Amino acid sequence: MLVHLNELLQNAYTRRVGIGAFNTPNLEAVRATIAAAEARGEGVILQHAELHESVMPLSVIGPVMVAAAENARVPVAVHLDHGEHLDYLKRALDLGFTSVMLDASARPYEENVTMTKQAVDLAKSYGAAVEAELGRVIRPASGGGTDDPENLPPDASYTDPKMAKAFVDTTGVDCLAIAFGTAHGVYTSKPVLDVNRVAEVREAVRLPLVMHGGSGVTDDEMQKAIENGICKINYFTYMSLAGGEGVRTLIDGAEDPAGLRFDQMAQAAQDAMQADVERAMAVFSRG
Ligand SMILES: [Zn+2]
Repeated sequence: MLVHLNELLQNAYTRRVGIGAFNTPNLEAVRATIAAAEARGEGVILQHAELHESVMPLSVIGPVMVAAAENARVPVAVHLDHGEHLDYLKRALDLGFTSVMLDASARPYEENVTMTKQAVDLAKSYGAAVEAELGRVIRPASGGGTDDPENLPPDASYTDPKMAKAFVDTTGVDCLAIAFGTAHGVYTSKPVLDVNRVAEVREAVRLPLVMHGGSGVTDDEMQKAIENGICKINYFTYMSLAGGEGVRTLIDGAEDPAGLRFDQMAQAAQDAMQADVERAMAVFSRG
């Protein structure tokens, strides 16, 4: 069933577990995520990023995501990830998304506050929730899957607890993405997470916190971050890589690779992504 983001996150906040938020820029990813959540009997978040618009338009995948959530046997929130423009947020809300992220974290603090407030006002009129970001999580320059590998975030860009408190009080957001050492995409060196920072921000804002760049963080580090206040974990890169690996395995094992049909490849990708999502969900729920 389609649910409000806060329903999933408040529960996670209280229980100190994490809910996976999986980017689903294709039908196979949508179906893999729902199947994984149903197999585990847990709630999940489907999300679409504005930077995936060129790969998969919101107008095409948005209604598919909402319908998949409505038909699911577990609670599913449908979220817009990394919205940068208010009109794009509005389009997602019009399609029935139950939450949106406004990401103005690259802008000066005051501009981030102003734009986030506008997003909160807009989302409220739809009864939807808002995620914002304070501090910088390194991101790819384009819609590709990798970050600038040489530039894991310096301490200076980590989220400041006092500033976070002022930010959530002024804007009225429902959850906050914070920077504490993660990066988007594939890590080329081992990330060092500042989990004390997570605990300090949780204590200051008393809201569910969001981790971006969750792919490639060790299970142990991930669970420490969750224990300390991370409730929503954005996850995409490794799931997508798993789908690619599933297709390669199918081709390598086929007696007649030239005779493989695309629907067989799509199914192999979906099955492999489902297995990866189930594995990730087991880590996030800490049991
Ligand atoms: Zn992100």
